Amino acid sequence: MRVAADLHIHIGKTDNGQAVKIPTSPDLTLKNILRAAYEIKGLQLVGIVDAACLGVISDLEKAADLGIIEPLNGGGFSDGRVALFLGSEVELAHPKTRRAAHFIGFFPTMSDIKAYANEARKFLTNAYLGTQKTRLSPDDWLDLVIDNHGVAIAAHAFTPHKGVYGNCVSRLEEMFSKPEKFTAIELGLSADTQMAELIPDTHSYSYISSSDAHSLQKIGREFTIYELPELSFASWVSALQGENGRILATHGMEPLLGKYHRSFCPACRRTAHEEEPVLSCPQCGGDVVLGVWDRILSIAVPSEHAPERPPYVSHIPLEMIPEVGREKRQKLYRTGTEIEILYKKPLDELAGVVGQSAALQIMRARQGKLGLIPGGGGKYGKVTKWQEKG
Ligand SMILES: [Zn+2]
Ligand SMILES: [Zn+2]
Ligand SMILES: [Zn+2]
Repeated sequence: MRVAADLHIHIGKTDNGQAVKIPTSPDLTLKNILRAAYEIKGLQLVGIVDAACLGVISDLEKAADLGIIEPLNGGGFSDGRVALFLGSEVELAHPKTRRAAHFIGFFPTMSDIKAYANEARKFLTNAYLGTQKTRLSPDDWLDLVIDNHGVAIAAHAFTPHKGVYGNCVSRLEEMFSKPEKFTAIELGLSADTQMAELIPDTHSYSYISSSDAHSLQKIGREFTIYELPELSFASWVSALQGENGRILATHGMEPLLGKYHRSFCPACRRTAHEEEPVLSCPQCGGDVVLGVWDRILSIAVPSEHAPERPPYVSHIPLEMIPEVGREKRQKLYRTGTEIEILYKKPLDELAGVVGQSAALQIMRARQGKLGLIPGGGGKYGKVTKWQEKG
C-alpha cells in the first residue's frame, strides 16, 4: 500500500489545556491533528513528537482506553482513518563543544514510549514541555531509544538552528560512538536530497521529509511516500532499512523557500545571494546566521559516489502560493486534500472553485514557473506571482 506520512508534528496543548510545545498553536490537539491530516492534507500516517511529555502521554492513554485510537499489529496506532506513531524530540548537546541539535525517537507501543519517558524524564527540567534540553549524553539517549524498541532520527539535520550537521558536526561519529544505530535523517525545509547527498556521512541513512508543524496549516507541507506491505511501525522501520517495503519519494517545500536556506547577516539585514557559500558577511565581515545551502557546501565532499535514492519532489505549500488566501484555501479543501490540489487537480476544476487567475497560480507553482526569493535568518523565502507575458 502507498502511504503518505508526515512524522514531525508538535502538540500545542493537552486535552485539559496545558501548553506542551511553545511556541505552537493551541489548535494542535491530538484530535485536530488526526482530522486535519486525513481530511485536509491527505496523509495516511502522522507522527507526533511530543508524545513522551507527561500531559500528552496521559491524553494518549485516555484516547486508547476510549477506543479513539487503537494499537496496530506490528506497532503504532490508528483512529480508523489515519495511523499515528508516537515520538519524542529532544535536544542533545555535544559533550565537548556543547553545541546542540534535535533528535527524534519513535516507539512502537504505549508501554515502550512510557518506559522511555520514565527514564528520560529524570534528565529534563520540565517533563511537561516538548523538545527539551536533556542532560542525557548523546550515547545514553540513543541507547535508551534502542533499548525501548525505538528508532532514532536526526531532526531537520542541516539547519543552523539545532540541526546536527548544520550546527554540531560533519560526521555523526563525532557525537555518537555508534552512529550506525540511527535509521534516518530528516531533510528539513531548507534542504533536498541533492544537497544532503553532498555530505557522504549521510549516505548510509534513509532520507525522510516531514513538516515540523507548529500549526495545523503547516501539517503535510513536507511528507514522505512509502510503499508498505501493511501499515504498521514494524513495516515502516523495514522500509526505512530498505528491507520489506521502501520509500517511493520524499516531497518537500522548494528548499529555497526554507527559513534558513541562505546565510543572513543580522547587522546588515542581508540575505546572501553569492554563488559561493557565505560563512561571514561579505558586506560588514560580521557573523551570519548560516544558511543550510552555505553550510552544506562548506562541508561537502562532492567527489564521493552517492547511493541511488528515491526522487525528491518539490512543491510550494498552498498557503505560500500567490492569490490563494485563507478563504480560497477553505473552498479548495472542500473539493479535495492539499496533496490532490497541489499535484493532481486539473486547471478547469481549480478555476471552477477559486477563479481562473488563482487557479493559474496553482498550476504555475506545480510546473515550477513561479519566481522564488530565497529565505534566510529565520524568515521564509517568498514566491512571486506569475504573470502572463504580452
Ligand atoms: Zn527541532
Ligand atoms: Zn520539532
Ligand atoms: Zn553584515
